[in-house]
Amino acid sequence: MSKKVTPLNPPNHSGSDGIKPKAVKRGCPVCKNPPHDAFAPFCSKRCADVDLGRWFNGAYSIAGQDGEAVVPANDRDDELD
Ligand SMILES: [Zn+2]
Repeated sequence: MSKKVTPLNPPNHSGSDGIKPKAVKRGCPVCKNPPHDAFAPFCSKRCADVDLGRWFNGAYSIAGQDGEAVVPANDRDDELD
């Protein structure tokens, strides 16, 4: 094994390295507001609950099931009042 000293930021050549930082400072995944430390990456417990609810509703269900369509009872998706 030879040690390679890589430059700070090698040019982004075409092709994916498969390295994607997850904890990027972005907005809340639910409402795009600045995330709160206590609820990161969400901006509030409410948004964390919303995201969790989506999981339970099957919005993030893993593909590969036998065409099982999971449709939430209510049609309200991103609607928050
Ligand atoms: Zn939010």
